Formats: sequence, structure tokens, C-alpha cells
Amino acid sequence: MPVLAGLTALVIFLVDLAGSLGVAVAVLYVVVILISASFADRRALILIAAGCAGLTVLAYLLAHGPSLGQQALLRCLISLSAIAIVTWLAVRHRISTQILRNSERRYRNIFQSTGASIWEEDLSDVRRAMDALVQQGITDVRAHMDASPEFLRHCVSLVRIVDVNEAAMKLVGARDQPHFMSSLQNIFIAETEPSFREFLLAYYEGKSSFSYETMIRTIDGERRSILMAATFPVTDGAHENVLVSIFDITDRIRAEQALEQARAELAHVGRVITLGELTASIAHEVNQPLAAIVTNGEASLRWLERPVPDLAEARECLVELIGEGRRAGDVVNRLRKLATKAAPEHTLVEVRTLIAEAVELVNRQLLEQQIRLTQDLGAHPAVVLADRVQLQQVIINLMINGAQAMATTSVRELTIRLRQDPAEGVIVTVQDTGVGVSEDAMDRLFSAFFSTKASGMGMGLSISRSIIHAHDGRIWVTSAPGAGAAFHFALPLASQAQDPAP
Ligand code: ADP
Repeated sequence: MPVLAGLTALVIFLVDLAGSLGVAVAVLYVVVILISASFADRRALILIAAGCAGLTVLAYLLAHGPSLGQQALLRCLISLSAIAIVTWLAVRHRISTQILRNSERRYRNIFQSTGASIWEEDLSDVRRAMDALVQQGITDVRAHMDASPEFLRHCVSLVRIVDVNEAAMKLVGARDQPHFMSSLQNIFIAETEPSFREFLLAYYEGKSSFSYETMIRTIDGERRSILMAATFPVTDGAHENVLVSIFDITDRIRAEQALEQARAELAHVGRVITLGELTASIAHEVNQPLAAIVTNGEASLRWLERPVPDLAEARECLVELIGEGRRAGDVVNRLRKLATKAAPEHTLVEVRTLIAEAVELVNRQLLEQQIRLTQDLGAHPAVVLADRVQLQQVIINLMINGAQAMATTSVRELTIRLRQDPAEGVIVTVQDTGVGVSEDAMDRLFSAFFSTKASGMGMGLSISRSIIHAHDGRIWVTSAPGAGAAFHFALPLASQAQDPAP
């Protein structure tokens, strides 16, 4: 190219020198500048342009001498102007190309060196397919996608992956881009489909960004949990590629599951400890119906052993006996639920009923300690999404703690209150008239192994807090030393539209 530019300049100079054509031959130096623009940088381009201008003036002086021929001078000036204008345009073009190249280089750097996997996708065919739906009269594209998995799969097949970075290939275990592209069918599994549907709809509905947790399968067959996130272009989107970042969150999810399991096991240990503290109440709760069963059994035998058996009375006793048997069964069932180690199960729970059941288990202990129990649970059902057993464990813990705090006080009143609050949801308060909480104990109350009791393990409140946090709630205490303590927990209210589970 430089040789071609040099030869062109030489030919133009010679023809211009001859001056026989009577036209502004030097204008053709712009060809030299345009050729040079493909190889010369900005400074070289200006030097070449200056050279061309010099040759133009030199040819003029050699052909016409210092005398000013009007026509020739005009031609010379036109040529110089053309050279100047084209040089200016070429330099500007050169600068913009450089800026574009730098920007592209920076983009490639970010694309490759960021830790996240990035896929560049062209969704224009998807948009066309969705537009076609609307033209066919389908107004609710989302509903159509829900109803027609084939259409979703068709859309997925229309997504063109333009580019993927190293991290993306590593994530799925692909050797190179062709290997990656040819394995796409296997990477997307059934669990990936809902996220893709949401992703495509977010794009089509003109949302500015999107993120979703989902699942893919690597080429080696390993399932990985991922977080996919995309920011959509602000334009009409039809011709813009979309960058989708994918973060591998498998380890985080596994850690969360391990934490959840540890929390459930801890809660179970806590329940077993609580049951130990409730032995007296439990024995009473089971013994009472058993004693009634024996009494009723004996009575019905007596009615039957009469010279004329009184079947009606015997029957009545047996009906009562069955009722007591069921009651004993219920108590054992409730205890079994508290004692067994089951995975937490979130269902709709009516908190007032749950409190009533907890009270039944603790009641005997309260009676023995001569504690007066007041329940103020409001008139409306309070439904939360929770694990029944764990939530009951919290209520029992707070009640037992309240009872224990009143062991040495003369006034013994335990109040359970339930309030519903638009912002906080359901707020349950267990208030006692016990010794209260000292200033310095206040901060440590919910820490594991903090106990001021001789035989306390200090796990009750810590477990209660972890249970309430796992239910997206909060737990706190208010107390004035000597004036008792009030423990409160708040849980988000489940949608009132749903009915509680039986
Ligand atoms: P533990 O009952 O085994 O001590 P908890 O975690 O249930 O463990 O309670 C930790 C500590 O919090 C108790 O030792 C006690 O000092 C304090 N505490 C708990 N509930 C009350 C209460 N209702 N009134 C006063 N102090 C309390």
C-alpha cells in the first residue's frame, strides 16, 4: 500500500508538472491520502498530506514560475483545498476508528476476564415470532406461552448465541465454542424452561433487566444451580444483542441447604430438651385420660354385671371411654410431632390455634406453679406460612422461660397476646411478671449457650431466634428489671385469600 500511494503521487506530480491538461490534476492527490488512510496513523497521514500539498505547490512553481497565472493559481488553490478537506475527514475517520477499536478491546477484555459466564444472544428472531403471534390476534403472549410449551421451545430454538466467554465454556465443560454450541440441547433441562420463559417475556415486555435462579446440566451430566441476569438494551431491542451473565451458585445453595439442615437438627435437639422440661405436664396430660378410661371401663363393667344389665348406661360409659382414648391419642400425637425429627414443612398455620395447643402442653406446669394465664388472641384468624412444629416450639419455649422467671416472684401472671399489624404481620407477645432482664444480659439473651439458670443450656432463645429468622420474621424482648419481661415475635401474614391447612 505505501508503494502504491508513492507511485500514485509520483504519476500525479509528473502529469501536474506537464500542466498540459489545463485542469486541477493535483486534486487527485486525495487518492493518495485515501490509500494512505488504510495504513498510516494520524501523524503519518498529516505528513503525507503535507507532502502532497508541497508537491502541488512545487509543480505549480516549476510549471509557471513565480509569475501569477490566474487560472493555474486557481487550480492550485482548489487542489490544496481538496487535499486539506480530505485529510481532515480521513484524520477524523482515523480517530473514530481508533476509539471504536479501543472500546471493542475493552469490551473483549471485560467479556473474557470477568469471573462470570457471559453469553451474548441475538433475540431478534424471538421478537419476530412473538410479534407474529400478536398479529395473529393473540394479545396475551404470556398466557399463550404458559399454555403452549411447544411455542416456548420454538422460541428457545430461535435464540441465537452469538458469543460465549471462557468462563461460560468452563461452566458447562465445553472444550471450545463449537463444542459449546453443539451441546446446548443437553445443557437446557426441563427445570431451565420456566426461567427461559420469564427471560424471553421480560425482554419482549420491554423490562430493563431480568434475573432468575435456575438449573442447568453440564456436558458431563452434573446439575448446577445458576443465577442468570440480563440487562436489556434501551432501544426497541429488535437489533440489539443481549448479554446474559450466569453465576454458578451451586456451592451457595448447597451451603444454604446444609445450614437449613443444621438449623432443623438444632431445633429438634431444642424440642427434645423442652420435652424434658415438660415431663411433669406430659405425664399429667397422658395420665388424666388414661385414668378416665379405666374409670369408665370399670363403670361400664358394673352396668353390664348387674342382674339385668343396663346396656344404655354401659354404652354411655363406653362412649366416654372412647372419647378419652382419643384425647390421650391426640396428646401422644402432638408429643410425637415435637419429638420426631422431620424436615421442616411450611404450611398455612392459624397462630391462635397453635397457641391454644401449646398452652395445653404447658398448662399443667403453670397450674403447679400457681401462675395465672391470660390469653388475648383477638377475634380474627391469624394465618402465617410456617412449620407448625417449629413455631409451636418457639411459643412453648417462651412460655416455659416466662414460668421459670416467675419461680421466685410473688405475682405470677403470664399473658399471651396476639396482634395483627399491617406492616409487621402477626405479632405474638409472651409477657411475664418475673425477675426481668438485666441491662447487660439484654444483648446476650439470644446468643447460644447464654444462661443465668443453674441447669440451663442457654439454647432455647437462640434456637427460637433462628426459627423465627428462617420464617422471615424477627424476635425481640422488652423488659424493665423487676417488672417482668415481654418477648415478642413478628411473622409476615400469609395471604388472607388462602384458607389455613386443616
Ligand atoms: P435457658 O432457659 O436454658 O437458660 P434460654 O436461651 O431459653 O436458655 O434463655 C437464656 C437466658 O435468657 C436465660 O438463662 C435467662 O437469663 C434469660 N431469659 C429468658 N427468658 C426470660 C424471661 N422471661 N425473663 C427473664 N429472663 C429470661
